[in-house]
Amino acid sequence: MKRLVLLGPPGAGKGTQAVKIAARYEIPYISTGDILRRNIKEGTALGKKAQEYMDHGELVPDDLVIALVEDRLTWEDCNNGFLLDGFPRTIYQAESFDKYLAQKDMKLSVVLNIRVPEEILLPRIIGRRVCKTCGATYHVSSMPPKAEGVCDLCGGELHQRADDAEETVLNRFKVYQAQTAPLIDYYETADEIAHIDGAASQDAVFDAIVDILGA
Ligand code: ADP
Ligand code: ADP
Ligand code: ZN
Repeated sequence: MKRLVLLGPPGAGKGTQAVKIAARYEIPYISTGDILRRNIKEGTALGKKAQEYMDHGELVPDDLVIALVEDRLTWEDCNNGFLLDGFPRTIYQAESFDKYLAQKDMKLSVVLNIRVPEEILLPRIIGRRVCKTCGATYHVSSMPPKAEGVCDLCGGELHQRADDAEETVLNRFKVYQAQTAPLIDYYETADEIAHIDGAASQDAVFDAIVDILGA
């Protein structure tokens, strides 16, 4: 039973690792960013509330995201654990999430903090391409698809996320430093965190994660 949280700046490789972790440990992969983007695409009330913030690289208000996650965690597939990517992202979200877990008599297994120096984050994000159909992530140079612009897995069209434009990314870094980086100390104090060198290759990062989580 693994209850995991992935922490790290935009472009750290959270989504890339999450897919492999979820498959290996047979737990659902829950990305708040993906859920919000799907809501925007489908034009839901939540999507309409979130869009403006996301377009500018700002955080969506805490109460919206907390409600979304608490609802998702009631699904049956979370009975054997879960992997959260992109939540919590503020101290308020973390405190509220701790209360939620305590109420349900649950505890996190570990928070995996993927560390990557900022100078290699920007080229990673600028080169990121995502499948419009299945959400698989590629990189124009470090992880190119077999045919340019086409998803290896489903044949879908690859595109660049609207908030991956350089100006928006620079704002997302600032938002990360101001609002999310303090979570590292928060979980350090609670003795719930493990640090991973995310500058290594994708396979090396995954091996380091498996070393921490065990077989
Ligand atoms: P996050 O979810 O943390 O924002 P992603 O997993 O989407 O990050 O990765 C950002 C970009 O960097 C993607 O284009 C991905 O293919 C690429 N990438 C991920 N991990 C690595 C790595 N270890 N080395 C080089 N590029 C990577
Ligand atoms: P990345 O890991 O590349 O920064 P995400 O896909 O996790 O990107 O997030 C994209 C956007 O979705 C964020 O910039 C923010 O606007 C919104 N978002 C995702 N998760 C949260 C959260 N927990 N709290 C507030 N906003 C969020
Ligand atoms: Zn695809």
